[in-house]
Amino acid sequence: MAVARDPCSAKRRDGAPCGALAIPFGAVCMSHGGAAPQVQIAAQRMRLQFDLWCRNEDLQAGLDTSARFDLLCRFTAAQRALERFEAKIVEVAELRVHIAAARAKRGESHLPPWQPSADDLAILGVRPKRRHARAS
Ligand SMILES: [Zn+2]
Repeated sequence: MAVARDPCSAKRRDGAPCGALAIPFGAVCMSHGGAAPQVQIAAQRMRLQFDLWCRNEDLQAGLDTSARFDLLCRFTAAQRALERFEAKIVEVAELRVHIAAARAKRGESHLPPWQPSADDLAILGVRPKRRHARAS
């Protein structure tokens, strides 16, 4: 999907516009926050919303053609992709709340949220990864 990208909305220290292109479906470039997970997630959601809009346009344009069933399938697939992504965002947010509450109970609130402790992984049912790759 080829999409025109906006210029980065950030300004340099001298007040001039950044000049770089924003990440696809985002407002800022990689140097001005475009690499941050929450920005990447928002951009991905926007991409899926745009895809759904495009599939709807295709479907409406092709309703009177023999391709309408195929177009409906593509529209439905785009709808499901967006729904799955949004459900995953909610799931991750709920897990973060769960982990924060468990950490507060254990007095581990000082740990950064991106650094799971062994107890966090146990709550999630994940075994901690080995620190060193096994020698083959
Ligand atoms: Zn920038």
